[in-house]
Amino acid sequence: MNTFSIAIHGGAGTLVKGMMTTALEMQYKKALEIARDKGYGILESGGTAVDAVEASVKSLEDSPLFNAGKGSVFTAEGTHEMDASIMDGKTLNAGAVSLITGIKNPVSLARDVMDKSYHVFLAGDGAMEFAKSNGYEIKNPEYFYDEVRYQQWQDIKESDNFQLDHSVKKDGKFGTVGAVACDQNGNIAAATSTGGMTNKKWGRVGDSPMIGAGNYANNKTCAVSCTGSGEFFIRGVVAYDVSCLMEHKGLSLEVASQEVIQKRILEIKGDGGLIAVDVKGIISMPFNTEGMYRASKSSTGEEDISIYK
Ligand code: ASP
Repeated sequence: MNTFSIAIHGGAGTLVKGMMTTALEMQYKKALEIARDKGYGILESGGTAVDAVEASVKSLEDSPLFNAGKGSVFTAEGTHEMDASIMDGKTLNAGAVSLITGIKNPVSLARDVMDKSYHVFLAGDGAMEFAKSNGYEIKNPEYFYDEVRYQQWQDIKESDNFQLDHSVKKDGKFGTVGAVACDQNGNIAAATSTGGMTNKKWGRVGDSPMIGAGNYANNKTCAVSCTGSGEFFIRGVVAYDVSCLMEHKGLSLEVASQEVIQKRILEIKGDGGLIAVDVKGIISMPFNTEGMYRASKSSTGEEDISIYK
């Protein structure tokens, strides 16, 4: 049996240390633990990596603590526009949605695009039509409402500024969620979901739903889910870059992912982090911000739930 393992993240934009209370830290860690264990339980009972990453991301989407699903940030129009993607490293099948509203679990809609349509990426009204034709319930805006996110939007809504979650403080920005997993058969998968940036407009889309930028999985190399300044992660084609360094340069997962986050993305001034797993179940979770909400668990007995360095 292959070593099986899972890693999840709740964004590389942790609250700056001074703003984090012990009670809030416990809430974050509990939510991370629940989400991680949902996916791990599936792997433990012989389930697929794809099912595991979807289950973990759904759990994070259901928590208002993270900027995905419930608790997504506000756009300039006061709405919530969400993006998500999923990829199966065994088949290289992928599904993604962008600019969707009212969907409780965007990652499941991305999964349905992968499994039930001929396409990879559906956006806006078309994606919503696809959701409705597949029986998705459209939730009222109140379901997604979170007081903290609302205040963040109030603070900047009269300006042309936009903001990557949490606060204006550096490192308090990215609350995207994601999961990567390796199952008992050595198949890997990645999923990512986000509400994007506070006060975003013009149909802004970040890296999270873009296969190769914010999310990628390939059994030849690794599965990757990113969080950070989406514009830079798109330009750096970050998730695929980690895979390419492994495939074409023969680097290990750890060396490849550190190279991308601590060097290549910094060269274009991108900040954030990623979680990655290879087909041996080895996990890497580098970030160049003050912290990254993260958790992992492996059948070797190793496990972790951390926020700061
Ligand atoms: N990468 C996401 C985006 O740009 C933000 C985040 O990671 O929180 O939409």
